Amino acid sequence: MREPAEWNAHLPLALGDERRPILEPEPEDLPGEGYRKRQIAHWLYAWGVREFDEMTDLPRALRAELAHTWRISEFSLVQAFPSADGSTKYLYTLHDGRQTEAVYMPYKDRRTICISSMVGCPAGCTFCATGQMRFGRNLTAPEILDQLLAAAYHQGISPREIRNVVLMGMGEPLLNLTNVLKAVRRMIHKQALAMSPRRITLSTVGIPRGIYRLAEEDVGVKLALSLHAPDDETRRRIIPTAHRYAIEEIMDAVRHYYRRTKRRVTLEYTLLRGVNDHLWQAKMLAKHTRGLTAHVNLIPFNPWEGAPHEGSSREQIRRFAAVLEAAGIPVSVRWSRGRDVGAACGQLALRTP
Ligand code: SF4
Repeated sequence: MREPAEWNAHLPLALGDERRPILEPEPEDLPGEGYRKRQIAHWLYAWGVREFDEMTDLPRALRAELAHTWRISEFSLVQAFPSADGSTKYLYTLHDGRQTEAVYMPYKDRRTICISSMVGCPAGCTFCATGQMRFGRNLTAPEILDQLLAAAYHQGISPREIRNVVLMGMGEPLLNLTNVLKAVRRMIHKQALAMSPRRITLSTVGIPRGIYRLAEEDVGVKLALSLHAPDDETRRRIIPTAHRYAIEEIMDAVRHYYRRTKRRVTLEYTLLRGVNDHLWQAKMLAKHTRGLTAHVNLIPFNPWEGAPHEGSSREQIRRFAAVLEAAGIPVSVRWSRGRDVGAACGQLALRTP
């Protein structure tokens, strides 16, 4: 891992930098002649350099010209909060002074990053710290992408070594789908991050028109639906914006996505004591998976200061999972990483631990 001084020296942008983001164009539209484009793409995405001057096989004059017109970094200041479990939460300050967060999670066999698609989030889920911040703005495609590149730089690894991306940080990706898809296409592009689309997960609170569009665009990513309650009444209590769409309407869109793409869908379910952890709700949840190949991820609630909820007991989580298993639904309990530094699911809120 790089030292903060070295890291910040390579994120040299001042607030309000008006140079064009070099992460915006597709690799084939990068500046320069044919093979120069490939060289630049390789430096950016395989080596993960943060300054044009480090692109040492480019002529000096070209490097200076690039640095005059283009910027690499989308962040002008970054802080990192390492967790005892090996994860690191990154707090990024964007060019306009707003902030967003990402979480890097190394596992034995893979490196994963959870990135944001917005500053804050308009969904306002009562169990999520981000939801209490309200909506700031959508992130641009370069800002979405650079969360991965900057984290790789800080970790001292190639961006291509991060093979799993989950869009489960701040924001609702399907309400910023144009920028999200642009960033995803760059992750998949052979001359950029060359990632398998199956290792990219988009998590949505349930925006039917976004799900239909995702099915049409068919970029090959995985869809995770943050359902969190199987009945409309409970769901509207914990996801205030859920009154816009009934669960049936959302599930129709998800079934369409499944029929069209044949990809397994994940249902995310944060367990809140006495709110959505009743066994009748587990049975109802099981019914929603009809007509789908679905996997249910049960997420024990990750507390944050002032949260109006408590997590379910381990025993209740076990019972809830058993009901789903008895109905033949694959289920896993996902204990989040980075709880100690406010990096776990639902804890991102630009607060320092
Ligand atoms: S859980 Fe997701 S959709 Fe809900 S407020 Fe948090 S970031 Fe937004």
